[in-house]
Amino acid sequence: MSKVKFYHGGNIPLEMHKVRIVQKLNLPPVERRVEAIKEAGNNTFLLKNSDIFMDMLTDSGVNAMSDNQLAAMMQADDSYAGSETFTRLENKIREIFDKRFFLPAHQGRACENILAQGLVKPGAIVATNYHFTTTKAHITLQSGSVEELVIDEGLNVNSNHPFKGNMDIEKLNVLIEKHGAENIAFVRLEAGTNLIGGQPFSLQNMREVQKVCKDFGIILILDASLLADNLYFIKEREEACKDMSIRKITRIMSELSDVIYFSARKLGCARGGGLCTNSEEIYLKLREYITLYEGFLTYGGMSVREMEAITVGLEETMDEDMINQGPRFIAYMVEKLQEKGVPVVTPAGGLGCHIDAMSFVDHIPQSQYPAGALAAALYIAGGVRGMERGTISEQRDEQGNEVFANVELLRLAMPRRVFTLSQVEYAIDRVVWLYENRKLIEGLTFVEEPKVLRFFFGKLTAVSDWQTRLAAKFREDFGDSL
Ligand SMILES: *Cc1c(COP(=O)(O)O)cnc(C)c1O
Repeated sequence: MSKVKFYHGGNIPLEMHKVRIVQKLNLPPVERRVEAIKEAGNNTFLLKNSDIFMDMLTDSGVNAMSDNQLAAMMQADDSYAGSETFTRLENKIREIFDKRFFLPAHQGRACENILAQGLVKPGAIVATNYHFTTTKAHITLQSGSVEELVIDEGLNVNSNHPFKGNMDIEKLNVLIEKHGAENIAFVRLEAGTNLIGGQPFSLQNMREVQKVCKDFGIILILDASLLADNLYFIKEREEACKDMSIRKITRIMSELSDVIYFSARKLGCARGGGLCTNSEEIYLKLREYITLYEGFLTYGGMSVREMEAITVGLEETMDEDMINQGPRFIAYMVEKLQEKGVPVVTPAGGLGCHIDAMSFVDHIPQSQYPAGALAAALYIAGGVRGMERGTISEQRDEQGNEVFANVELLRLAMPRRVFTLSQVEYAIDRVVWLYENRKLIEGLTFVEEPKVLRFFFGKLTAVSDWQTRLAAKFREDFGDSL
């Protein structure tokens, strides 16, 4: 993708694949979109797919699969134990990550449950560059706590730092000094840091983190769910790595990690997950939980078909043309929105285009969930479903007080190889229209608020009739068009 230049110039990301299976989309009229978002309690998780035109909620389990993945799925060996499918996956993990022990799990958070149960004692601290929702929930469920040590630049939404997901080594040293290495369950580095805009860490930073961990005897765990994006950015942005193959960078990252876990809903473009390590001690500690929570050790809750797809998907992740499609489409969208003055997270990261809601709707107080309101508004404006990544995605503290997020983002995920560039242009167009009409957007308030992971099921209502007014403005500007 990156090697093709257009004669007339312009930086247009060219797809290095063709589309052979398609799914028809439906774009309901704006009046229906207002109704649908109300029915969904202004929570985009609760919208029905039949009401959605562009589903940019997540990249989880919705990346396009390749012909080779589908072909492999037909040859899956369905046996409870001793499955050849498992052997193929285990061998691929060994080949790519050079880790001896592999434990299968049904998805990323299942790995987190097992790591938390196996390694987090009450009162223990997990140091991380930045938390992820399900990771934090599992650690706190075991009465542990999470300390975020991302570099200060990581929380600066407008930056030109190439590696905003880096861990601050100084903060790590201070934390260890303050609490003692023995009270730190593990250090967790999250590739393609999800909640701060899919921002990568550098290989150099990982080396430095690993050195500290090694000096203090602390386990280093890599959350590799978004590894594909991080690999691309290391190769693209880190001078020392520009001549390394993706496979080589992966190997080095793996050598630096004591444990790697991943959601195969993202990494490998299928559905599943797993953990791998070279430590027999850690392996044995975690293994019993797999049989208890996931399934037998040769499938861990996954279907054999998905396991075959992961095996092929992991191999395809080593192909630069495959992993650069997402980041390049995202960069295109970020660039176009920036040209129109829309506040977006920069530099462009992986995972999706992140709109800075705090600035987009700076008239909405954080207590009325600006990112959630913007997500609802964009659905009304274009049938585009994004995800709130702001205060709604946080949890209240023990006293029941709202914990305001550091950043209020609307994430527009770019599942790999799913959208065409004209669809991306459509999404850009609707975001720009919304930006010009942003003063019409107002806040939201909870009507149903679950205690844990409230962003999944919570229901909210608009603080006024702003959504009806926004739809009326849409009609005025677009006539009888959808
Ligand atoms: C999605 C994700 C997870 C959780 O994986 P699931 O398969 O959705 O359970 C963990 N970590 C990161 C960084 C993720 O993006």
